Amino acid sequence: MEDKLNPYWLDESIVRGLKCPYCHCKTELVEEEEIYGSAIYGRKYRRCLEESSHYVGCYRSPNHLSLGRLADDELRQCRMNAHEVLDALWNGRHPVFDSRQKTYDELSFLFGVPKEFFHIGMMDAAWCKYVTKTIQERYFNSI
Ligand SMILES: [Zn+2]
Repeated sequence: MEDKLNPYWLDESIVRGLKCPYCHCKTELVEEEEIYGSAIYGRKYRRCLEESSHYVGCYRSPNHLSLGRLADDELRQCRMNAHEVLDALWNGRHPVFDSRQKTYDELSFLFGVPKEFFHIGMMDAAWCKYVTKTIQERYFNSI
């Protein structure tokens, strides 16, 4: 991928879930019930003011910082796929690396993205797909 550092990763307000990367509007902190209809994970969410399907979970901390940028339905699916192959690298049946930390260190180097930016929660759909495909091809010999 030519554009290694997606500019959105560097936009603090998007990475922190304060601005919607799709609508470029502000977001609001909402209760889980407003997203799922009931409390499932015990966290709050940052939701887009324009489009209710754009949201992201927050840390269960007193100040409820977002876990990353807001996602739409497609990005949520892409994130799950990326986490699946990434977790398999250290926690799967045939682990490639010793630990989660080692895995992220190696991938940060492989993709040429600084460690502080190599987080799935910061990536857009295109990057999630690129990371997922690259890991599958490189470490699991599949497409
Ligand atoms: Zn939005």
